[in-house]
Amino acid sequence: MTGPQALPNILEITPYKGGEKLVDAHKLSSNENPLGCSPAAQAAVIEAAKHMELYPDGSAAALRDAIGAKYGIDAARIVCGSGSDEIFQLLGRAYLRPGDNIVQSQHGFLVYRLVAQQAGAETRSAPEKDLTSDVDAMLELVDEKTKMVFLANPNNPTGSYISYSEVKRLHEGLPENVLLVLDGAYAEYVRNNDYSAGMELAGEQANVLMTRTFSKIHGLAALRLGWAYGPESVIDALHRTRGPFNVSAVAQAAGIAALNDDAFQAKSADHNAAELVRVRDAVEKAGFKTYPSVGNFVLIEFPEAAGRTSAEADAFLRGRGVVIRNVNVYGLPTCLRASIGTSAQNDDLIAAIEAFAKS
Ligand SMILES: *Cc1c(COP(=O)(O)O)cnc(C)c1O
Repeated sequence: MTGPQALPNILEITPYKGGEKLVDAHKLSSNENPLGCSPAAQAAVIEAAKHMELYPDGSAAALRDAIGAKYGIDAARIVCGSGSDEIFQLLGRAYLRPGDNIVQSQHGFLVYRLVAQQAGAETRSAPEKDLTSDVDAMLELVDEKTKMVFLANPNNPTGSYISYSEVKRLHEGLPENVLLVLDGAYAEYVRNNDYSAGMELAGEQANVLMTRTFSKIHGLAALRLGWAYGPESVIDALHRTRGPFNVSAVAQAAGIAALNDDAFQAKSADHNAAELVRVRDAVEKAGFKTYPSVGNFVLIEFPEAAGRTSAEADAFLRGRGVVIRNVNVYGLPTCLRASIGTSAQNDDLIAAIEAFAKS
């Protein structure tokens, strides 16, 4: 007898693999905040733990109000999720069916493809220029079956971004029925004047949704918390699609506290800005190419020569207790992605790469 059979499109999915954790190693493989999280968020979690018998507020009203107040946006047009990951899943359920397609950039974040696969939809990936999203190439892939265009800006794992004027050009080139999803997971780290996460566009346009996460600058990846802001109709569809209590009370409380801790966010962003430059410079000095990054990680390219490859570098670094991320699944087999760690972790990463260069 054969047991229950999952749908063919589900069985085609390669499950997402998170960054590996090794005992006694520096985990620089998941772009987590090396400074931890806001002490105020920790205190809020302890407080919230006193009443875990109670169901959370399913609408996450206090958290949405806090987000609305912080960014000056309408709380009624925000939906919260169990990570921004869940927001993407909800989008797939609400907008995709078999035969549809989504458009993304060649080295776009892996989760978009998983969402499409779950719905039996096709993923169309547009070639990039210098590992940067190419608006014209993306627009070229849009057809009458396209339901959503996903843009991680900045993108993971490349670390690159496109300017706000380019984002607007992407939006202008899309039919009104195609939803542009702007994933701003790393928005808080970007200091370039021509960048915007797209809050304004999501506020004004009927087909733009911006997603954000508490997993990166807020250091709350363990709690699973993200949110989206956009047009009423899209937010309404996401509310209808989500589970009634999709965000835990503990996560909601921590999120509010984290959001209000500007000092922790500034400290995290400052640390990242300084250490990113230091790591990049040192890796380049050791003889390896790095790509410009505005995120909290850097993509390092290795030669294809024996003894110098990314796979050998990966193994060498692991041997020295430094775990960074293999990005084969992103179509970048010659590269590894290193998250920016604490200063001490970065010292060890740099020392390991220098030793590899001399090995
Ligand atoms: C880390 C990351 C996220 C955040 O995912 P969560 O589910 O909120 O933890 C979203 N998008 C990109 C591109 C990321 O790298």
